[in-house]
Amino acid sequence: MCRLVKIALVAHDNKKEDLVEWARFNRRILLQHECYATGTTGSLLESDVGLSATKLLSGPLGGDQQIGAMIAGGQLDLLVFFWDPLEPQPHDPDVKALLRMTVVWNIPVACNRSTADFLIASPLMAGDYVRQVPGI
Ligand code: PGA
Repeated sequence: MCRLVKIALVAHDNKKEDLVEWARFNRRILLQHECYATGTTGSLLESDVGLSATKLLSGPLGGDQQIGAMIAGGQLDLLVFFWDPLEPQPHDPDVKALLRMTVVWNIPVACNRSTADFLIASPLMAGDYVRQVPGI
């Protein structure tokens, strides 16, 4: 019996195809876990991958901040965030804040496909892992 990992998936527009391909390839594994996604990314995962994810708001409308709040609230274990390094986004401050939350709360985060491949293939996905969190 493998552990249920709570995974958030987010992709900027130029990276959505990348994320969809990655999720298709890893669909079998992702189906075993609990997925969350920003609005448009989540709709694509449903329609193009057949993966159901709890959909939050679209990133520019607050979805990144919702994911950041979930991380701070201890409700997520892993983030796959294919952000676009070549194009400014209207919600760049939210992107920075979200990435900051992953470091503050010691959340594994994949910002490109090869890191996502390494993370999803990690034996720690199935085993017990006690993540260290900052003292409150
Ligand atoms: P989207 O948001 O999935 O709604 O496009 C992603 C983002 O731009 O942060």
